[in-house]
This record gives sequence, C-alpha cells and structure tokens, in this order.
Amino acid sequence: MKIIEILNKDEMSLSFEVFPPKKETSYDSVKEATEEIAKLKPSFMSVTYGAGGGTSSYTLDIGKNIKDKYGVPLLAHLTCISSSRDTVKAQIEAIKNAGIKNVMALRGDIPDDMKDSDRSNWDYHYAYELVEQLKNDDFDFCVGGACYPEVHPESANQADDIKNLKAKVDAGVDFLTTQMVFDNNLFFNFLYKLREAGVTVPVVPGIMPITNGNQVERAIKLSGAFMPQRFKTMVDKFGSDPDAMKQAGIAYATDQIIDLYANGITNVHVYSMNKPDVAKGIYDNLTSILGKKF
Ligand code: FAD
Repeated sequence: MKIIEILNKDEMSLSFEVFPPKKETSYDSVKEATEEIAKLKPSFMSVTYGAGGGTSSYTLDIGKNIKDKYGVPLLAHLTCISSSRDTVKAQIEAIKNAGIKNVMALRGDIPDDMKDSDRSNWDYHYAYELVEQLKNDDFDFCVGGACYPEVHPESANQADDIKNLKAKVDAGVDFLTTQMVFDNNLFFNFLYKLREAGVTVPVVPGIMPITNGNQVERAIKLSGAFMPQRFKTMVDKFGSDPDAMKQAGIAYATDQIIDLYANGITNVHVYSMNKPDVAKGIYDNLTSILGKKF
C-alpha cells in the first residue's frame, strides 16, 4: 500500500520508525524487536538506511520481513550523497523487486572525507536529485522527503531552507516527515510557513520518545532540537531512574501526540528506536483514539 493513501485518510493514525542492525551479530535481536513493533499493526513502518550504505541490505531484509510477515505497509529509506548513480539504481531496483512501494528519499549527511573534495565529481548533491530518479517512469513509488521545523543545520536561514524544500517537493515528493520536535508549537509554526510557501503535501511530525536520560545528549547533538523547560525538568528529575524515565518519556510523547491529533494533524510518526516496549506503551495509551475519524 502507498503511504500517501494512508496519510490522506481522514482518521488518526500512527507509524513507527526502526533502524537496521549495524553489524551482523545484532541482526537477530533487531529483527525480533522490529517484529514486536510490527505486531502492534501500526499504520506503516519505516526502516532507516545507513549513510555509508554499509547496512543497505539490512534495510531491505528487515523491511521486507515486516511487510511480508505482518502486512504492515513499509517505507524504505534511501540516501544518495556518498553513492554512485549505479549503486543507487541497483538499490532502487532491489526495493522495487522486494515489492516495497514507498521510499524516503534522503541526501544523507555529507561524510567528513567528502567535505573538501571537488563537488563537480559527486553524483548527487541534494535529495531532490534522488527524488527525480525515483519518480522515473519505470517505477511507481510513493516518495517521502525529510524536513526540518528548526531549520536544517546547513541552511543559512529558514526562508532558504523552505525554498529548497519547496523545490524538492516540486521534484515529486508525495509527503514530508519532520525531524524530531519536542515542542509542538515549533511544528505548527513550521506547517503554517510551508502552507504559505505553497507546499501542500501532507507533513508528518516526527516524535522521539526520550525514555533514557543518556539519550537526551545524543538526540540534541543529532537533531539540534529545542528542549522545552517542561521536558528538561522531567529529564532532570527522572533521568537517572530508568523505570521512572521510561514511564515519563512515554507519557510526554503520548501527550505531544494527543495535542497534535487534537489540533487536526492526522498522522504522527514515532522514532521508536527499536524499542517494542516504548512503542507498545505509546500505542496502548492511544487505543481509543487511533482510527477515530476527524
Ligand atoms: P536535502 O533535502 O538535500 O537538504 C540538505 C540541505 O541542502 C538543506 O540545508 C537544504 O536546505 C539544502 N538544499 C536542498 N536543496 C538545495 C538546492 N537545490 N540548492 C541549495 N541548497 C539546497 N539520514 C540517513 O543517513 N539515513 C536515514 O535513514 C535518514 N532518515 C531520516 C529521516 C527523516 C525524517 C529525517 C528528518 C532525516 C533523516 N536522515 C537520515 C538525516 C538526513 O539524511 C540529513 O539530515 C541530511 O543532512 C539531509 O538530508 P535531506 O534529505 O533532508 O537533504
């Protein structure tokens, strides 16, 4: 099933993101964790793609397993910046042959060893080039794109970032998923600006449940996301008590999701970090809400 059909339904839905194993020894445990999440029957699941392509085959293996065994619609992530046109083409063919209908088209972070190299030798520079490739007549993919309510770190300002985002959407993006936000008002303001700029595709907010005090530093480093005082107070109080922090983090994420639904956002994507207990905790809190019509 195409993700855009799910997003265009007028009912509240929830999707989960998982990541593939980084090495072979963790393959079984990751597969098991993603299956536990798939058993919740989320609206769809996404599987990330290692920037360097090292885990590329695992993205497909894990994704195909979720789709075929549990019937959960699948969104396979794909990055392009450190790959050749041929490698990306082969990966797209493999996604198609696996029966996956949805691809999240990403540029990926520029690896350190590429930063000073001659850009004219790169096969890709921005995600929109991958979007164009995926929207080729030979394929029939639903294509997602990433967006940044708090501005992508390489952009000088939000106006430029939104202008580039609009061009990416015009290249064929069917829907957008945001970088994690911990303050819904940042998402609402961003959505308003996108609509004003003529970006009309569905925009799905990304929610990261922080259920472990150590996760906070890493999450800020990776995303640069703003942490509201209420969130910081929660981490200060419960961060060193794993059980309490897990319960508080699930409650905080649930609260954010309910606020989004209550304000007319139909689909929410949860960065579930391969944690079935966290995904289940959030899902169980929403059982009487999910599937409700707007
Ligand atoms: P782009 O859309 O190309 O944007 C990158 C920067 O270039 C922005 O500053 C943008 O404003 C600018 N730009 C874009 N087009 C132009 C243009 N034509 N001219 C000038 N400037 C331009 N990373 C992974 O490695 N694997 C994953 O699975 C993964 N999944 C992600 C999922 C989501 C929902 C998000 C939000 C991010 C994900 N990332 C992932 C991280 C992502 O790869 C990085 O944030 C990366 O730095 C940017 O990727 P992008 O696709 O947003 O790039």
